[in-house]
Amino acid sequence: MPWRTQLQSEHDDRKRNRLWRARPMIGSPQGRTLEIDGQTYLNFCSNDYLGLANDARVNSVVAEAVLTAGTGSGASHLVCGHSSQHHELELQLASFVDAEKAVVFSTGYMANLAIPQTFLKRGDLVLQDKLNHASLIDAGRYCEATMKRYPHSDVERVDTLLSKLDADKKMVITDGVFSMDGDSAEIERLQTITSRHGAVLVVDDAHGFGVLGETGAGSLEAAEIRPSQNVLMVGTFGKSVGGMGAFVAGDACYIESLVQHARSYIYTTALPPGVVAGVSESVRIIKEEPQRRLDLIRNISHFRNWICELGLPLSDSRSPIQPLVLGSASAALKASQILREQGIWVTAIRPPTVPTGSARLRITLTSKHRLEDIDQLVSVLGSEAIRESIKEAP
Ligand SMILES: *Cc1c(COP(=O)(O)O)cnc(C)c1O
Repeated sequence: MPWRTQLQSEHDDRKRNRLWRARPMIGSPQGRTLEIDGQTYLNFCSNDYLGLANDARVNSVVAEAVLTAGTGSGASHLVCGHSSQHHELELQLASFVDAEKAVVFSTGYMANLAIPQTFLKRGDLVLQDKLNHASLIDAGRYCEATMKRYPHSDVERVDTLLSKLDADKKMVITDGVFSMDGDSAEIERLQTITSRHGAVLVVDDAHGFGVLGETGAGSLEAAEIRPSQNVLMVGTFGKSVGGMGAFVAGDACYIESLVQHARSYIYTTALPPGVVAGVSESVRIIKEEPQRRLDLIRNISHFRNWICELGLPLSDSRSPIQPLVLGSASAALKASQILREQGIWVTAIRPPTVPTGSARLRITLTSKHRLEDIDQLVSVLGSEAIRESIKEAP
């Protein structure tokens, strides 16, 4: 079959199975509401948990930095793209998460790709939770080490695999907060086990950074564990920080190895200094304005109380990610459509982003939602039409 015909037929299959993806075109800044195709919707699917993606102070810091430092970084970090803004941000992050050192990457995907590739060679072992983010799974595939995936949050299985499998170096990687389910990894137990086996634990805290812990430093802070020799932390700036980019924090020697060897650090352009200055301002706001986190926590509780009262399936999540699992792709699409007709935007999440049979509404809450916004969401979720789709769920 000619190449193009084959592609066309793959597209047709995808459409038939209700798995075709479209990109809604957003006509407004991120916020409590979104404008899509000229209509305004309540936004319940962004990762802008603290409302910093369009904050007036952050915006003006970025604008100012662009006027003084320019638009482009000009090069990769090791050539001449590493600006004073990058340097300052790394110091600020290391201090925030209580690590010896931090290094800023251009995206979370790149930070994750870098870690197994830098530290593991042929004959080494990397264990990953089955529900880890796709970028981590790719990182495991693209490195020389052997990758094994363990059942979701099965800490005993991690212990057994670390005992049973022989390897020079062993690494265990987990999401801090799982991106499609919102539940947390059992970090204390994983840390105890990995350190007993002399393995390194990597926590990708894309969804915990800024939100969890006493000061918002994330899942490790909540577990009272510091990024160190045995524990590397990844944080990203695209979620609660409201910007773009990522960092890895830990022992200085490990961080230095990333700078020396990580291909996704070395062979890519550094983030623009203006973006980095904006991230710094957001991190400062996260530290200094705990009220945002408290508003978010209030909204999460309000939502969960309602869901419970309505007898809808409650997820095991204390995070801003509150999924409603519906089962089939068509049930999730239908529920998303019903919400849309009521002025609420929640994208249906379908396989392969989530396992087959667990298509869902991935509802996310932010500090900017008002209680009445949540009431409106929940009243639609509790309607007969949506309940019907839930019945279909396995
Ligand atoms: C979003 C996300 C990433 C990727 O981060 P980007 O900066 O968007 O590339 C990595 N890990 C997890 C768990 C994520 O949710």
